[in-house]
Amino acid sequence: MQLTYVLELLKPTKRKQNIFLQNITEVVKNRRAIASKLKAGETKLSSADFKEHNLPSAVKNQNIREVKALYKLFLKSNSDKENIEFKANQPICYNNQNYKIDDHIISIPLYTNKCQRFAFPVKQTRRFEELQQYIKNNCTLGKASLFYKRGKWYFAVTIKIAVRKTTNSNIMGIDIGLRQLTVASVKTPEGKELNRQFHNGKQAGFIRKKYRSLRRKLGQSKKVKPIKTINDKEQRWMTDLNHKISRQLINLAVQEQVGTIVMENLENIRNNAKSLNSADRNIHSWSFYQLQQFIEYKANLAGINVEYVSPEFTSQCCCKCGKVKESNRKGNQYSCKCGNQIHSDLNAARNIANRFLAPLNKQQPA
Ligand SMILES: [Zn+2]
Repeated sequence: MQLTYVLELLKPTKRKQNIFLQNITEVVKNRRAIASKLKAGETKLSSADFKEHNLPSAVKNQNIREVKALYKLFLKSNSDKENIEFKANQPICYNNQNYKIDDHIISIPLYTNKCQRFAFPVKQTRRFEELQQYIKNNCTLGKASLFYKRGKWYFAVTIKIAVRKTTNSNIMGIDIGLRQLTVASVKTPEGKELNRQFHNGKQAGFIRKKYRSLRRKLGQSKKVKPIKTINDKEQRWMTDLNHKISRQLINLAVQEQVGTIVMENLENIRNNAKSLNSADRNIHSWSFYQLQQFIEYKANLAGINVEYVSPEFTSQCCCKCGKVKESNRKGNQYSCKCGNQIHSDLNAARNIANRFLAPLNKQQPA
C-alpha cells in the first residue's frame, strides 16, 4: 500500500526561499520544454537535452518521467488544448535515490550556480514521527516533492508498506448522513449485533449554518474572495472532523475484530442531502465522499476490507423482517408492524451490513 506524508519545513531563510523559487521557475521552463519535445515526437529524452535549464540533472530526469506520464494522460483526454499547460507554481520532484531523510533533516539537491545539496529541518509532528517509524522498519521510499503553498514550504514523501490482511470475520455496516454523520453497526457473520457507534451531526449542522449565513451576507455585498476564504475554512473544519470520525470508527473495528467494513455507494448520500440548497449540498457531498475515503484508507492500513453495497431502500427497509415501507421512517424513528422500533439511521446501518451478509449466508448450507 502506498502512503503520502506531507511534511512542513521549518521556515527557510530568505536566501534559501529565493533558491527554491529560482529552481521552481526553472522547473516550469523545463516541464514546458519537455512537453514541446514530446509533442514534436521526440521521446528519447535525457537531462542532457535540456542544458539551458539551471536544475540538478536528477530533477530534470524526474521531470521527464513526470511529464511523459502526464502527456500520455493528455493524449487520452482528447483535450482541445495545444499541449499540457503548466502553472507557474510547480513542485520540484525527486526520485528515491536523490533525497535523504536523516533524523529531522531532509536533504535535496538544488541549483544555485552549480548543483548543490541543501539540508532543511522538518517541523516535528505526529505524522512525521509516524513516517520515521516506517523508515526505521525499512519501508520502501518512493518519490518526493518540494512545494510551496499559502506561504509555507512542504516536502511530500511517498512510501510503500506491506499490509497484512486481517482474518477477522465480523462486519461493520456504516450509514453516512446528516442528522447522524455516521452510525455503525458491528455484526457477527451470523448477523448478531455486537456493538454500535453514533456520531451526532449536531455540531456539524451548527457550523454549516454559521458558514451559510456568513456566505449569504457576503453574497449580498458581492465579495468573491472572502467567500472563498470561508469555504476553505469550512472545508478544513470538516476535514478535521472526518479524520476524527474515521479514526474512531477504525478503532472500534479493530477492537471488535471486524474483517470487512460495508458502506453505501455515494449516490444515495447525495439524495439524502435533498433538504440542503445546492451550495451546501456541494460542500457536503464533497465531505461525505472525503469521509468514505478516509475510512477506506485507514481500514486498508489496518488490513480491513472495504466493500460497497447498493444504497437502494437501506433507509426504508426494516432490518428485522426485511419489509420495505417508506412511511415506516419518520425522522429519527423507524417503526415496523413486526414490532421493530429503532433509530432510523441504526436501522440503515444494520441494513447495509445485512446486504453484505445476505449473499454470504445464502451460500451456506441450511
Ligand atoms: Zn419489520
